[in-house]
Amino acid sequence: MPEGDTVWNTARVLERALAGARLTGSDFRVPQLATTDLTGWTVRESASRGKHLLLRLADPDATDWTLHSHLRMDGAWRAYAPGERWTARPAHLIRVVLRSPDAVAVGYHLHELALVPTADEGTLVGHLGPDLLGPDWDPQEAVRRLAEHPEQSIGEALLDQRNLAGVGNLYKCEVLFLRGVSPWTPVRAVPDLAGTVTLAQRLLAANRGRWTQSTTGVLRRGGTSYVYGRRAQPCRRCGAAIRKDELGERVTYWCPACQPERE
Ligand SMILES: [Zn+2]
Repeated sequence: MPEGDTVWNTARVLERALAGARLTGSDFRVPQLATTDLTGWTVRESASRGKHLLLRLADPDATDWTLHSHLRMDGAWRAYAPGERWTARPAHLIRVVLRSPDAVAVGYHLHELALVPTADEGTLVGHLGPDLLGPDWDPQEAVRRLAEHPEQSIGEALLDQRNLAGVGNLYKCEVLFLRGVSPWTPVRAVPDLAGTVTLAQRLLAANRGRWTQSTTGVLRRGGTSYVYGRRAQPCRRCGAAIRKDELGERVTYWCPACQPERE
């Protein structure tokens, strides 16, 4: 599931594959960029902001541009050696191919693919709250933004990227379990919002640099989460059956015993 840590890792993959390189070819397979050709452009750096990927480029006139993409639920970037087979996903999911002398980067099922002047990046990501894995992570600002909507459920509020950027459904469920907070709790009734966002940041940060997402410290299959994806299985803490219910537009996993509802 692409959450902030997956996107951060993906940005590093693109950085290693392309940063500093002059592109020898590009192939966009989306209508809005079908005529765009980045041949001769230089890749400056690859960055992430919340769940958004920002590939920063310089055109031959040294003007800075940003190629934006979003993975949502199913997108991915992969880097290959020249001549290597592209095996990650079916070819019809390819949205863009970027070639350098040393690497080929292939973007699969990307969303919101757009090329904008780097000076205008704010139009793409300016609405986002503090980035949990960004250099400017600011837990107090995240708490302030959360507290602006006191009646919203904490489960929905943590997923709203305008409050804080990077938490997806997996980390939402796991953080609330670890804090003993029901996902339906209104933000105003959450005992320690600062502790909640700080824990979310720590869980994401712990998974940087690997593709297996674990909140338990266990990397073995079936052991990586407390509640996420574990409907009807026994709670690792109390043995009660983990529940899966709808909350807003998403499902949520929770332990009814460890996460009592409060008002
Ligand atoms: Zn429990």
